[in-house]
Amino acid sequence: SDYLKRIDENHHLNVFLDVYDKEAQAKAEQIDRKIRNNEPLGKLFGLVVGIKDVLVLKDQKVSSGSKILEGFESQFTGTAVQRLIDEDAIIIGRQNCDEFAMGSSNENSAYGPTLNAADNSRVPGGSSGASAVSVQAGLCMAALGTDTGGSVRQPAAFCGVVGLKPTYSRISRYGLIAYASSFDCIGIFTNNIQDNASILSVIAGADDNDSTVSRKEVPDYDQLLKFDKKVKVAYIKETIESTDLQQEIKQHTIQKLDFLKEEGHEVTEVTFPYLEYLLATYYILTTAEASSNLSRFDGVRYGYRAPEADSMESMYKLSRTRGFGNEVKRRIMLGTFVLSASYYDAYYTKAQKVRRLIRDETRKILSDYDFIILPTTPTTAFPLNSQTENPAEMYLADVFTVQANVSGIPAISIPNGVDKNNLPIGLQIMTDVFKEDELFAFSNYLM
Ligand code: GLN
Repeated sequence: SDYLKRIDENHHLNVFLDVYDKEAQAKAEQIDRKIRNNEPLGKLFGLVVGIKDVLVLKDQKVSSGSKILEGFESQFTGTAVQRLIDEDAIIIGRQNCDEFAMGSSNENSAYGPTLNAADNSRVPGGSSGASAVSVQAGLCMAALGTDTGGSVRQPAAFCGVVGLKPTYSRISRYGLIAYASSFDCIGIFTNNIQDNASILSVIAGADDNDSTVSRKEVPDYDQLLKFDKKVKVAYIKETIESTDLQQEIKQHTIQKLDFLKEEGHEVTEVTFPYLEYLLATYYILTTAEASSNLSRFDGVRYGYRAPEADSMESMYKLSRTRGFGNEVKRRIMLGTFVLSASYYDAYYTKAQKVRRLIRDETRKILSDYDFIILPTTPTTAFPLNSQTENPAEMYLADVFTVQANVSGIPAISIPNGVDKNNLPIGLQIMTDVFKEDELFAFSNYLM
């Protein structure tokens, strides 16, 4: 109930689209009963968790931040959320986000922007912006977001919280409304590594409803946080020397690297020649996948349907014209274009090849080093409405985060001080696939 009160007091931040107050109270009472009767409790008992508006929960609304899903209710609960519930976590509500998880500022939501709690005139990042703010402002203990190109790590950095994107295929995508299926990952926001590790242990692992999930065993990550060895760390020259990088972020990142050297770890500069191709590769492939995934929203099967349409054709057209926002339309068109017969090879096939190069080069570095350290974002949180005019400018916010998604590797953003305006700075750590245990232990040591 403390959380419900704080949610109420922070209404102006526009974090929650729905608060499940009755259901949450009922769950809290059920947990109390279990405690009184000495019954076994789930591993996450009492953990208050918010979920991004792309994760479905039975009999509750879900809209992907879009008007096209207005009024739609889910008939089932997704795997990750179900596993939280089964371990006695309390699902507190549905959280605002950029429409179909496309964006870096939460300003593309059909339900209005969410405000950064550190400075209400600034964005919280995106697309899982509200989920980051919910943890930042103490409206819940943890939140599930999704990270297709940085949508958990970038808002975590802007809000000064921990944000994990695990290995692709570590967590089931069943019940996650798709944006770009070969990139989409559920991610976790918390205030500390311990909670993040406990949650991953619960939600990761094989699932009969998603054949792409790894069958690899899931360790108790939260029991493996001890860190007492010397490691090899690489940092990417092109990121730290990037002219787009804010001075204070550069300084804070270098300070962390210096600390590691002093502690006796091996810290080495490496070059990654593909940095300038990352965003192009990411945006060609994700828009292609999005144009295909979003074709199901046609006014027939879900949500909004234009009432005055008088033919099938006009129903599709009017429903989609009104239901989708500008950024989503832009990406559907771009994706349809790169998949069109005459341009397929020039764009889509080429981008697939570059994706392979990026992945191979990244994993080659990770065969020589335990971790790669880089800033999470080139700048701290920017003012509301400052980037909305120029989408290409907005895409730059993800220049350091998409590498992990293109490569399928895990990456985390942890708080790393503040800039002169007291805005949080994030530090990003990447490692090789399925090494979340080491990533958590090392992050815990660095925090
Ligand atoms: N900002 C990136 C985009 O707009 C990343 C989004 C995401 O990770 N869902 O595509």
